[in-house]
Amino acid sequence: MPAEVHVVDHPLVQHKLSLMRTKSTSASAFRNLLAEIGMLLCYEVTRDLPTRNVPIETPLAQTTGRLLDGKKLVLISIMRAGAGILDGMLRVVPSARVGHVGLYRDARTLAAVEYYFKMPKAMAERDAVVVDPMLATGNSAVSAVDRLKETAPRSIKFVCLVTCPEGLAHFHGRHPDVPVYTAAVDSHLDGHGYIVPGLGDAGDRLFGTT
Ligand code: URA
Repeated sequence: MPAEVHVVDHPLVQHKLSLMRTKSTSASAFRNLLAEIGMLLCYEVTRDLPTRNVPIETPLAQTTGRLLDGKKLVLISIMRAGAGILDGMLRVVPSARVGHVGLYRDARTLAAVEYYFKMPKAMAERDAVVVDPMLATGNSAVSAVDRLKETAPRSIKFVCLVTCPEGLAHFHGRHPDVPVYTAAVDSHLDGHGYIVPGLGDAGDRLFGTT
């Protein structure tokens, strides 16, 4: 099965991403834009969620509607920058369950080191969507999905804002079964593991810690 990469090139997503890339964009604007893009990416990544028919009564007539079926979706945020996308996604799917994976990048080796992992119960009956704005080296994404697979969710998808060929190759080398949804595939990684042109450090820009 070829590894899937879905580039969401909707004009609204691209407009907001360009504002986020801009160096002079404030932390509060960056946060709002990331949440807004989170909503739009959520729309794409949930396209194939199962639904069931239900009888409903409108003010005018009986009809049949559709509701989401099965156990609630689980959105998994890779801390800390995943929180920005998560906020937007929860606005669109407020009933979703939330898992967290805490990873930091070792500044010298760029390896992902886990410090937190908490998932909801009954993962085997849930579809999982992992979120992190930057799929850069792929180390965090690979580690997060390695751990997540130990809980055996029904399906896994990965959502980011920006990625690059190196990150995609590393991630799909390890997890070819996990589709990636992104707003952009940028040119390359620099020697410090930053995506170029990218948008800088997403966590710092989100929380104003630059
Ligand atoms: N993490 C970020 O926040 N930005 C990058 O460019 C790479 C990793």
